[in-house]
Amino acid sequence: MSINLQTPIDYLKGVGPNRADLLRKELGIHTYQDLINLFPNRYLDRTQYYKINQLQRNNAEVQVIGEIISIKEVTQKRGKRLVATFKDDTGIMELVWFRGQKWIRESLKLKKPYVIFGKVNWFNGVFSMPHPDMELMEEHEKNLRSAMQPIYPSTEKLSNMGITNRVINKIMQQLFLETKGRFVESLSENILVELKLISKSEAVFNIHFPKNQEQLSRAQFRLKFEELFYIQLQLILKNLIHKSKIKGLPFTQVGTYFNTFYKDHLPFELTHAQKRVLKEIRQDLGSNAQMNRLLQGDVGSGKTIVAFMSMLMALDNGFQACLMAPTEILSVQHYNGLQELANKLNISIKLLTGSSNTSERKEIHKSLENGELDILIGTHALLEDKVKFKNLGLAIIDEQHRFGVEQRSKLWHKGPSQSDQNEPKTSATPPHILVMTATPIPRTLAMSVYGDLDISVIDELPPGRQAIKTVHRYDKNRLKVFRFIRDEIEKGRQIYIVYPLIQESEKMDYKDLMDGYESVVRDFPHPKYQISIVHGQMKPADKEFEMQRFIKGETNIMVATTVIEVGVNVPNASVMIIESAERFGLSQLHQLRGRVGRGAEQSYCILMTSHKLSNDSKKRIETMCRTNDGFEIAEVDLNLRGPGDIMGTQQSGVLNLKIADLLKDKDILQSARFYAKKVLQNDPRLVSPENKTILYTYQQLGKYKNIWNFIS
Ligand code: ADP
Ligand code: MG
Repeated sequence: MSINLQTPIDYLKGVGPNRADLLRKELGIHTYQDLINLFPNRYLDRTQYYKINQLQRNNAEVQVIGEIISIKEVTQKRGKRLVATFKDDTGIMELVWFRGQKWIRESLKLKKPYVIFGKVNWFNGVFSMPHPDMELMEEHEKNLRSAMQPIYPSTEKLSNMGITNRVINKIMQQLFLETKGRFVESLSENILVELKLISKSEAVFNIHFPKNQEQLSRAQFRLKFEELFYIQLQLILKNLIHKSKIKGLPFTQVGTYFNTFYKDHLPFELTHAQKRVLKEIRQDLGSNAQMNRLLQGDVGSGKTIVAFMSMLMALDNGFQACLMAPTEILSVQHYNGLQELANKLNISIKLLTGSSNTSERKEIHKSLENGELDILIGTHALLEDKVKFKNLGLAIIDEQHRFGVEQRSKLWHKGPSQSDQNEPKTSATPPHILVMTATPIPRTLAMSVYGDLDISVIDELPPGRQAIKTVHRYDKNRLKVFRFIRDEIEKGRQIYIVYPLIQESEKMDYKDLMDGYESVVRDFPHPKYQISIVHGQMKPADKEFEMQRFIKGETNIMVATTVIEVGVNVPNASVMIIESAERFGLSQLHQLRGRVGRGAEQSYCILMTSHKLSNDSKKRIETMCRTNDGFEIAEVDLNLRGPGDIMGTQQSGVLNLKIADLLKDKDILQSARFYAKKVLQNDPRLVSPENKTILYTYQQLGKYKNIWNFIS
């Protein structure tokens, strides 16, 4: 039969039904193509051969030439092990197998020169090498081998069943023999020439059989570029298609509300970044496409005013707008702040949360539907089916990381229904969507994950802010910290003390919080000091009451769990104490710190920890003390936790890269995105002859889930 890349792996010489089965089950390798795209995890330098008397007790991987002089089975408490005595002209060592003894024993040959390779242990006065990779000398010399020996992904089961790295290597050689190693080019001539990339066939060969580091690097570069290029191409095309297909509500004018507010009521001069972002939003709203924009801005960068002014654009065009926030406290705060501004413009604005009572709700539902209500602020309550707008033009989501994709999509369907009688009611025109986040996503990640969202960034803080001073203190220095708090209160400042709240151990956390509260009350006695407490188990009304006391300056200290993490704005609060700071993630620490430094006074963040810190906690604390820059912090977070964790599972598909690494290959990503854009700018439908290979490859993308299932 003729061989092609879809040929089942069973047909490859040296594979056979049993091995094929294992390869399918363990590594998902079904076809020749899957095998080609099994890229090595790493490479070993096998140019060096060691003598047994040169071995060091450093557990390094080494290669030794010698012979097996005897084999024995040693019975131990838990199972048996197979031990072979291995000898060269300088000494002896042991080779040890704990698994697969029968098969191995049968295959080992005595008194024949072998090349063995593996990690050596020093044990009971001899060097031993467990589960060595071994090859008869004569084969070793014959094999298509390079100095950089590939190590393939494997599983315990595979190696137990004798499909060792060497076996994979051999069947890979066989595959190249059968296919003659010729693979269809998947990038255009232009790109190959401009970037001086090696051809597909050359890259695939050299990823498996590199002769030296340079060849390997070029192969890796080419394949990484290819992987990232097609991801970017997909994302950008998705975005283009979205824009041409999803019609947006036309916001044709900037009208009275916006202009009056800008001229007469703006409480401060906007920063350059705020102005730039407003322009970007304005452009989206004025185009015919639906806006889908992510607004990133560090805590305190002033996203709220941008949100409000965007809502004014909606109102100016006869539409309603809404703003959804993740917590009741935050919604109330948004409402209080924005109500003040709205009143000046005679705009009707309401708040809807879980604790709105029935008559309030009824009132809101009615005025939303008849169009009397202009702006609705609230929590998840906005998403309820009963909440129907007359003509929602803009939906804003604050702190989007707190919401799921599902909730975002619910807002989509709250747009005005089409007047067309024949259309089912569901085909509403979606409102424009603006999601805001203070959890900055590093650009590299944003590019690969949100390539289909447009991104705006407020990268500038309002003027006059002093950098927050952050320090790390151990629990045993608590008295000093309390003294510092007392001094700050003396100066008229307010203090936050925050305790961790982690779902799994909610009870314990609650106890910590209460113990902490009591000790704070002891050290800051009533009536000289007033203390608020807010935590998740309180009724919303009580929370709000306590919050308001703090906001009004009636209390000096706010003891809280992370319910205050997002958005709370009390400019007079200038000290943030974070208890058990080692238990918080970086972005959470940064969010919490963002609660202070909102006024003109010097602010402080004190990270309290116990003495026992893991390396990761140390790194987090050290990062917090070093910088206030949210993007820098996000970058460290990304390095500590990896992209999957940061973005949640929903995007993990995009991040499941086979050869490229978002952290290490930023430059390649940038270049891939640049070229993907360039190609599409000149030829959006990929119809020109020079892009034929790209079009073909892209079309195949639709057929397979995974890019590497077809690029060969
Ligand atoms: P965040 O981006 O964290 O939501 P906010 O919108 O709450 O930030 O703004 C933080 C504080 O900064 C608020 O008190 C707000 O009034 C103030 N602010 C926003 N923009 C400016 C500006 N351009 N000049 C001065 N103060 C500003
Ligand atoms: Mg905010």
